[in-house]
Order: sequence, then structure tokens, then C-alpha cells
Amino acid sequence: MNRPERFHPPSVDEVLRSPHCELAIARHGRQAATGAVRQVLERLRRDQGVAAVPIDSIAERALASLEERERPSQRPVINLTGTVLHTNLGRALLAEEAIEAVVAVMRAPSNLEYEIAAGQRGERDAHVRGLIRELTGAEDAVLVNNNAAAVLLVLNSFAREREAIVSRGELIEIGGAFRMPDIMARAGAVLREVGTTNRTHLRDYAEAIGPQTGLLMKVHTSNYLVQGFTAEVEPVELAKLAREHGLPFLDDLGSGTLVDFARWGLRHEKTVQDALKGGADLVTFSGDKLLGGPQAGIVAGRKDLIAKLARNPLKRALRLDKLRLAALEATLKLYRDPDRLAQRLPTLRLFTRSAAELRALAERLLPALSAAVGTDWTAAIVDCSSQIGSGALPLETLPSAGLSLKPSGKASGSAVEGLAAAFRALPLPVIGRISQGALLFDLRCLEDEAVFASQLGQLKPGTHHALA
Ligand SMILES: *Cc1c(COP(=O)(O)O)cnc(C)c1O
Repeated sequence: MNRPERFHPPSVDEVLRSPHCELAIARHGRQAATGAVRQVLERLRRDQGVAAVPIDSIAERALASLEERERPSQRPVINLTGTVLHTNLGRALLAEEAIEAVVAVMRAPSNLEYEIAAGQRGERDAHVRGLIRELTGAEDAVLVNNNAAAVLLVLNSFAREREAIVSRGELIEIGGAFRMPDIMARAGAVLREVGTTNRTHLRDYAEAIGPQTGLLMKVHTSNYLVQGFTAEVEPVELAKLAREHGLPFLDDLGSGTLVDFARWGLRHEKTVQDALKGGADLVTFSGDKLLGGPQAGIVAGRKDLIAKLARNPLKRALRLDKLRLAALEATLKLYRDPDRLAQRLPTLRLFTRSAAELRALAERLLPALSAAVGTDWTAAIVDCSSQIGSGALPLETLPSAGLSLKPSGKASGSAVEGLAAAFRALPLPVIGRISQGALLFDLRCLEDEAVFASQLGQLKPGTHHALA
């Protein structure tokens, strides 16, 4: 057997003069290109037994490593999980109107906290407050980082070193680190649980009220349902009880929508208007769940209470930045025209796509998908159900259609994991879900089929088995 020739590396300068390195220098600068070439050479030196590598191949590797390093860490993916508001995939997609509004305030100074006519200092929330009043009928509103922050701010403002009364059936965990009892503790509020997991009555709340009470609270159990022998107190009754004792009543809606979803054949979800009509003094909800806007937390309700929230120093720490205020303003304006909302607001557009439309899309994509995965896999069109996501409307599923990929032979279960990894390794990662031994792509959130098709050409289905 011939021993490979001992590798004598070319000089760094020699490599830097090659075409790939000229490109690397133009794109990433001389310093970065030199560093990358050094690294490649060192690796080759360490790599015993490697035959002489052509200079341009060294340069190519250096360029590739620089390109890889420059790729954004947060980058677009194709969400074929079937969950529309996927918290791990960034929840709501913004409407074009919102994107344009964000870009405009990124490029130039804006009147974020400035009253142009008066030439004096203004308030950032003023850009959105009027719209929330107009759309919900609330007296006033305050904007913060997300709904968790909204709840924190309300509790800290009205129940710090006092008690917040909540039903045991509503001590929710939203996933991640949002657990109602923990938020209470951080807000400095003492949690006063009343009732039982399945049944809470008005008298439970009434008996708990005392001089130490700061607030009555109802939490919308947005991500689960208690069924069977249950009882909960209607918000109207709680509102009345709170008023009798001069206490604020908070309704934490979580998802919070401004329109009746039944209009589009979806299940009716309690709207912000419903909650305010139900007597809530304050309503808290997210900007990037059903509302379809940027991440934000909105508190809407009584003017005097909102004023107190705005004065809390925590508000400054939790405030919204100009980008999200711009996106939120543009998103809310879309609600002025409900007739066009399902076309303009991506979240609602995706919720309302019909199974027939998605099936037709599956039929168009099937041949290209089959060809891309090769004969080891059987591709088929399947009926499936999409989910709203982000804990909203947990029991509502949307009839959908998708494409499934099953091993055609006696491939092991881990082959499916490997195929899923190969799709995730595409330049534009495609994220599906594995269900009953098949890789499933729910097409509800696929709006740009050409982009998906272009990725298929780059799939390397056999390369990721080892990852399984
Ligand atoms: C989602 C949710 C929250 C947290 O909202 P974020 O905007 O994710 O911070 C709080 N309460 C309820 C009821 C929720 O559904």
C-alpha cells in the first residue's frame, strides 16, 4: 500500500491569492479571510495522512467557513408543522402593512415620543392607545413587552404586598416559564387561591375578600379545558362583587382577539370587547397570538387604573420599542375593515384556508416531493388537522391536507427521523412533524409553493440517517 505523500501546506499568502479567497476578502475582509485560511491549513496539517490538497480547494473551504459563520442565527424556515401560531417558530407573521411600517421607522427618526404639532415631548403609547379605544370600547390602554409582562404590571400595581384572588382552576402554566403563581410571586403579590380545581363559586371569592385584598382576577384557561363536574363564576358576577368592595377586576384573556371568529366559520373565542362588556376593569392580552401582530402585551380598561399602570416604574422596564409599536399600529388598523381582514392578516388568512384548497396544493406538490425523496420513500396525500397554536383555542382543529412520507421498504423507524433531519438541513429548513411512523407536512402554512419546490431540488435524503 502506498503511503500518502506527506502534506506540505502552501503559504497563507499563496492561498489568499486564489480566486475563492479574492471573493472571501471582498465579502468578509482580509483579516477574516486570513484567519479562515490559517484555520483550514492547521486542520489539514493535523489531519494525518491527507494527500496534498489543491490550493483552490483550501481557499474554497475557507470561503465556505466564512459564509457559514455569516449566516444569520435566526433565519426563516418553512413551517409545515400544522400549528399556525407556533411559539417556537415565532408565532404570528406580520401583515405587509405592518412590515412596511416597521421598515419606515427603522430608517429614519420618528415622532416616537414627540408631539409634532406642539413641538413637545409626547408619549409612545399614544400611537396605539386611540386605536385600542376605538376597536374595543375600552377607556384607555397601556402597552408592554408581552402578555406575561402585562399581567406582571397589573399585579405589581394593584396587589403588591396584598392578595390577588384567583380560582384554583385557573392557575395556569402557558409553557416555558409562564406559571401564574410564579408571576404573582415576582409581582410581589400574595396568591390567594379559592375554590377547587374543578369547582369555584361566588361565595369562595366573597369569603376570601378582606382588607388585605388588592385585586380579583380571572384567567382565561386558554390552553386546556376542565370538563365534567365543574363550576366557575361568570365574569359579570365577579365584576359585581369586585365593584361592591371597591376592588379592580382583571380578566387575563391571553390570546385576545378583537373580532368574532365565528364570522369565518371558526369557533367563537371570547373577544376583548366581550371581556370589557362582561365588566372587567382591566383586560390583558397578547399582540402575537390571535391578534396577528408583533409580540406585545396590551392592557385595556378603566382610565384611572390604566393611569396607575402607566405611572409604575416597572412600565419603563417593560415598555414596547418603536418597531413593535409601528407594527402594532398598522396591524390594528387592518381591523377597521373586517371584510378584508382574512386576506390582509396572515394569521387569519392561514386559519381560513380550506381543506380543499390545501388538498389541491398537495396534489400539485406530490410529484416533485416524490422525485426528491426517491424510491426509498412513499409519498402520499393525507387529510390532517391543523392547530391554532400558542395555547389559543386548544380544542379547535382546522381540517387540513398534507403530504406524508413513509419508508417504502423495511427501513427502520429511525429512517423517518433521518429524513426529517435532511429536510431541516435544507438552506431554507422545512419543519414537519412525525406522526405514526411517517413524516408529515401539513400544508396550511405553505403560501409560497415555488420556494418549497426550489428547496426540494437540494434535498439529500440519504445523508442524515446517522443522526437518528
Ligand atoms: C399566552 C398567555 C399568557 C402569556 O402571554 P405572552 O404574550 O406569551 O407573554 C398569559 N396568560 C394567558 C391566559 C395566555 O394565554
